[in-house]
Amino acid sequence: MTISSASPGLAMPDPKNRLFGPLPDVSAEAGYEEDHPKRVGFFTDTSVCIGCKACEVACKEWNTLPMDDSFGVKDAMGLSGMSYDNTGQLGANSWRHVAFIEQSRAVDLPMPTFGRPGDDRHDHGASPTTPGDDFSLANAQQSVLNAEALSEFDPQTGQTGADKQIRWLMSSDVCKHCTHAGCLDVCPTGALFRTEFGTVVVQQDICNGCGYCVAACPYGVIDQRKEDGRVFKCTMCYDRLTDGLQPACATACPTQSIQFGDLDELQERADARLATLKAQGVETARLYGRDENDGVGGDGAFFLLLDEPEVYGLPPDPIVTTRDLPAMWKAAGKAAVMMIGVAVTAVLGSRRR
Ligand code: SF4
Ligand code: SF4
Ligand code: SF4
Repeated sequence: MTISSASPGLAMPDPKNRLFGPLPDVSAEAGYEEDHPKRVGFFTDTSVCIGCKACEVACKEWNTLPMDDSFGVKDAMGLSGMSYDNTGQLGANSWRHVAFIEQSRAVDLPMPTFGRPGDDRHDHGASPTTPGDDFSLANAQQSVLNAEALSEFDPQTGQTGADKQIRWLMSSDVCKHCTHAGCLDVCPTGALFRTEFGTVVVQQDICNGCGYCVAACPYGVIDQRKEDGRVFKCTMCYDRLTDGLQPACATACPTQSIQFGDLDELQERADARLATLKAQGVETARLYGRDENDGVGGDGAFFLLLDEPEVYGLPPDPIVTTRDLPAMWKAAGKAAVMMIGVAVTAVLGSRRR
């Protein structure tokens, strides 16, 4: 049985609730004419991400974002000292974040390496001559042994064990440009708006720093800049899109882990990629944010993951935070009518007496 916090709402979506459920044309819903551009998005295939962070750097460069850590503290080195993940999380100055997740799982690490000086000669009886001779063979054997020992190391416990192996998952996270965007729904100034491309953009010159959108985002993406309280997040490079260019991060990605394009085409591509991985035996592969029946009506930026969403720091069952607003206003309206009725009855009753 699947237990889901979103299940009751998802099982019985209110067809009249325009803040929830599938939405075939987000731009038309936002008021654009019929001839608006097609909805664009990102398909991030984490199975081919190598963690190079070119996407992070390209985003920082294009948008002239300052360097800081996940707490907004500027640091000359910018190193966390705990992981290769020195960004930590998405923030007002980090609109892309490449997560490095180290896991105790099976992995093949046939990397060449070296043992202690002299080990090869003494242990394997080889002599240091030219590559391709016995010494090279012994060295290669030692490399395999070292790789096996490394793969048995459990970084979470610091112990080695035959059943403990490690793997790295890498994933470049970003704003999801939700079909139903809680940030957009609650913004009182109109600073957040839906573009003609179906993306969600914040205009810093209109943002008044109220921070409502920060609490309304089910993914914890949008963030306030410490200096002045205004919010910032990925714009899906709106400025580049209007000039016919693709986003800077997708352009910089060397492995095509970040794929940009028309959302419907990306969805087809993702379905095919998932089928390929499943056929190759990668049973844990799954798409995240691809389903228009999920709690946000599907994402404009969706992912192929190799493990549970929680492993990547993503909510397993995101729900647009404004989903229940219509029902709440309905209930509040009923309560107000009832109270007025009671008050009128009381006044009329007292007059009769
Ligand atoms: S992920 Fe958050 S910030 Fe991005 S569009 Fe959705 S609600 Fe808004
Ligand atoms: S689309 Fe543009 S703003 Fe968004 S993460 Fe990529 S480079 Fe940054
Ligand atoms: S998404 Fe692409 S650019 Fe970003 S870290 Fe992964 S491989 Fe590098």
